[in-house]
Amino acid sequence: MLPTGITVQDEQGRFLMVNDAAAVQLGLAEGQSPALPSKYLNDRREACLELLRAGRAAVAEECFTAGQGKQTLLTAHRPVRIADRNLLLSSSADISDQKAVEDHLFRSAYFDELTNLPMRRVIEHRANSLIQHDGAVSRFALAFLDIDNFKHINDYYGHSIGDALLIEVAKRLGLDLRESDMLSRISGDEFMLLLNPIRNEAEVAEYIQATLQRLKAPFFIDGSEIFASTSIGVSLYPDHGRSYDVLRQNADIAMYRVKNDGKGSAAFFDSTMEHEAFERMKIEQSLRLAILEKRFCCAFQAKVDIRTRDIKGIEALVRLRDDEGVIQAPGTFINLAVELGLIDDLTHLVLAEIVKSIDLINETFGPATTISINVAAKQAGNPEFMRSFAQALEATGFPKRFMIEVTEDAFVTKTHFQDQILPIFRRLGVGISIDDFGIGYSSLSALADITADEIKIDRSFITDIHLRPRSQGILRAIESLSEALGMTMIAEGIESFEELAYLQAATRIRYAQGYYFSRPIFLEELKPSLPAISEARVSLASRPQQEGRQAHARPERYRR
Ligand code: C2E
Ligand code: MG
Ligand code: MG
Repeated sequence: MLPTGITVQDEQGRFLMVNDAAAVQLGLAEGQSPALPSKYLNDRREACLELLRAGRAAVAEECFTAGQGKQTLLTAHRPVRIADRNLLLSSSADISDQKAVEDHLFRSAYFDELTNLPMRRVIEHRANSLIQHDGAVSRFALAFLDIDNFKHINDYYGHSIGDALLIEVAKRLGLDLRESDMLSRISGDEFMLLLNPIRNEAEVAEYIQATLQRLKAPFFIDGSEIFASTSIGVSLYPDHGRSYDVLRQNADIAMYRVKNDGKGSAAFFDSTMEHEAFERMKIEQSLRLAILEKRFCCAFQAKVDIRTRDIKGIEALVRLRDDEGVIQAPGTFINLAVELGLIDDLTHLVLAEIVKSIDLINETFGPATTISINVAAKQAGNPEFMRSFAQALEATGFPKRFMIEVTEDAFVTKTHFQDQILPIFRRLGVGISIDDFGIGYSSLSALADITADEIKIDRSFITDIHLRPRSQGILRAIESLSEALGMTMIAEGIESFEELAYLQAATRIRYAQGYYFSRPIFLEELKPSLPAISEARVSLASRPQQEGRQAHARPERYRR
């Protein structure tokens, strides 16, 4: 069958000739159901009569919804004179498929597939056109929203629930928007809201607060009750910028402030934040440079037997020497290193430093002490990195000396850490330690599924333990479970004699780490006094506390 539909109509619009293709296209073919809507046929007839009267040719794109769905015909109409009659000759092609592809391309270029929201470039375009057509009076607000801990939720519940959550968040955000507002999904778990027009900051603040409240209510997805708070940063046009880029950047800066201040709330941009953002960028730059230049070093902190004061092991804590030579504690850069994908290199640098210093480590702490290295949860869930790290540990020739410390999140998130990655380390004889236990996402019952050698009870439970009955109760529960599972317990962050006395009197915890025994120390600072160190090597027990600290180490000095 010729794919082009051809019809000839008379002066009254009646069909004199309809070929097979046209019959199909126009729903005139015998047995075809349902036929085209009669309204469409009437309208088309009217349009054709008009062309005949005017003696004018035309090309029209005709769209209608028939049985198979949306259909589009591209039709060329041309009046012709045949045997003294004015007739209309029309030829049409069915371009429904091309149209569907175009629509799809358009949607995928401008709309997010998951949430159906416009994408970044659409909201950018809208904001820019508002700015260009601004009569200098209209104001609008740009709010940058980021779901807190979305990565956690994604890892913990899996990606399909993560996706479903994004869809639900988008629905809640879109609930009471005006026609002139716009909500867009910028990327992953980031959304942008354009509120236009606005009267004043107070009005926006009220709206944003209501939005925050709405997002705080739990989401019920696939039988799970999920809590997902959101951090929001807001900038106002023209107060905080006169271009989309500046407004977006400032909303982003305000959002960052919220994240740093504990998440789950909103902040308007103000100029003091600019300084903070600049500082952050400086750290980012210097971190990249520091990795390139290998400007890292390790401080070591002892894990002490609280009965004998023997040193059971040491933990390597990485430090960054910044551009100005100031030593920075990991709190300032570890999360950023994870975010920027630099953490793997950093962990290999830590290991390299340990290998380089192994003689000094042995001399200082004893040749049998274990050496713990911290591994971020994100790394722990990355088989590629973990395999390369296991190889590097093996290549040291003394893998059995090592322990890796990972937070409990690594065990409970949906990665293959526990079942596939851990066995590799076990085979090498590397110990596994659960760091900061008690503050992560897992419950005490999750502990039962974890196979580790050591559990480190987070400092928050240990601080003033002698004064806090609730923490004491928690500690007892962790204690009995750890014993049942054969894990060695380490109390983190002992600072006072009272804390130590409580642990000794009321628990069976044997090991601890903390400033009370020793701050993290730099080995190279010990070098000039080597004889004193080897003398003091075996234990901290034989000497008074202060002296012990002095003899072992001059405490590191750095900015916190
Ligand atoms: P962490 O692994 O829980 O290490 C213990 C932290 O507590 C260390 O902080 C240590 O200096 C501090 N600390 C020890 N005793 C006391 C005490 O009595 N009181 C107080 N207030 N603090 C005490 P630091 O060195 O700042 O490290 C912070 C965190 O950074 C570490 O916590 C660890 O999670 C991370 N980190 C350190 N080095 C690395 C590394 O090489 N790789 C990775 N991924 N993370 C690291
Ligand atoms: Mg640790
Ligand atoms: Mg810890």
